[in-house]
Amino acid sequence: MSTNHNPFHMAQRQLDEAAKVLKLDPAVHELLRWPMREFHVRIPVRMDDGSVKVFEGFRVQYNNARGPTKGGIRFHPEETFDTVRALAAWMTWKTAVVDLPLGGGKGGVVCNPKEMSAGELERLSRGYIRALGHYIGPDIDVPAPDVYTNPQIMAWMMDEYVRMKGGHEPGVITGKPVQLGGSAGRGDATARGGIYTVREAARVLGIELKGAPAAIQGYGNAGQFAHNLASDLLGMKVVAVSDSKGGIYNPAGLPFAEVLTHKQRLGSVVGFPGAETLTNEELLELDVVVLFPAALENVITEGNAGRIKAKIVAELANGPTTPEADAILHERGVYVIPDFLCNAGGVTVSYFEQVQNAYGYYWDEATVHERLDRKMTIAFQAVHEAAQRHRVHTRLGAYVVAVSRVAEAMRLRGWV
Ligand code: NAD
Repeated sequence: MSTNHNPFHMAQRQLDEAAKVLKLDPAVHELLRWPMREFHVRIPVRMDDGSVKVFEGFRVQYNNARGPTKGGIRFHPEETFDTVRALAAWMTWKTAVVDLPLGGGKGGVVCNPKEMSAGELERLSRGYIRALGHYIGPDIDVPAPDVYTNPQIMAWMMDEYVRMKGGHEPGVITGKPVQLGGSAGRGDATARGGIYTVREAARVLGIELKGAPAAIQGYGNAGQFAHNLASDLLGMKVVAVSDSKGGIYNPAGLPFAEVLTHKQRLGSVVGFPGAETLTNEELLELDVVVLFPAALENVITEGNAGRIKAKIVAELANGPTTPEADAILHERGVYVIPDFLCNAGGVTVSYFEQVQNAYGYYWDEATVHERLDRKMTIAFQAVHEAAQRHRVHTRLGAYVVAVSRVAEAMRLRGWV
């Protein structure tokens, strides 16, 4: 992996920039450049054909100055230690920017879940916890679902943890099925949190969102709910959406329920009746008020940043904008709501799940929405204010808020 494309090197470079703005103490800076604790494990799994396959697993507990580390577990054939380290660093900044009493962590297993049976996946999930169960826990490190892991996998992992430790400990992991202590409102939490930040951005910029056009790249969990909520909560007209097969465009607006049914029936949004087809690249450059990248990383680059016409770019995806593009967008006055703020709704409701598990009392959906709104709104204001005060782009503003909170916690504890 070249230095340029190594995500952990990118995470370190982003921190270095924030450290300059904050004139960070060198010891604090050094401590924040590296994970505080990391695990590298081998997991033997009995496969359906009777053979034993050994899988490689990771868990990174990046920084716990503000509280137990928190972050998803990814099952991915191309997982690497450095990807997990980078994602754990970003979780540290994400939990800090929304002011949750948590640190950042991440885990991963090198495997291809698409080629594994349900039984093999269950044995792998339980094996991961057997390898790491003594080093996680509600007060230590709390995993969650991520790429190719889901509520069922969380249920197996929680069960395995309880077999090791005894008792009842639902708060060891979040993203569980609601029947096992999952939170109401987790399904659309990422998109919903992002929508609240768009509402706030429009308010500070003096932009009217009602009836304004929006485009969404990606039609999975984040993109689909963004379509629904941009219309429902903000009154926006979603004119374009896309998935890996391409995009669709109708300047009169795309109806959510019908597009979703079409995607569920045919596997793609492409071919939706009455809409024109367009490429993912064309979608990014449409003349819309809000653009939601909700699919992949590195889609807004120095190659197309000059042609982005949206007034607000709401990054539901992780890492959709390259550092070079950030500078171009900032110069052109495009307002970017950076990923670790825009998509922090998911971890915020995961934290609500931990709180509800700890006191064994569960909130209704309306309560979750109201508390999520308050968290996201306050976080947005802190980032906006920091960017203005330091005269930097919003991503750097978000780093400034997050890094200074983690640094302050380390100072108060007497670590540095
Ligand atoms: P998902 O797997 O449910 O959906 C991904 C979507 O992207 C699919 O519709 C897929 O067709 C589309 N896609 C894939 N390749 C594409 C391409 N080349 N061009 C256009 N679209 C393409 O994933 P998700 O959970 O919606 O996550 C999307 C992004 O949001 C990721 O970057 C993820 O890290 C981020 N995110 C998600 C959550 C969450 O709670 N789901 C939380 C934080 C961040």
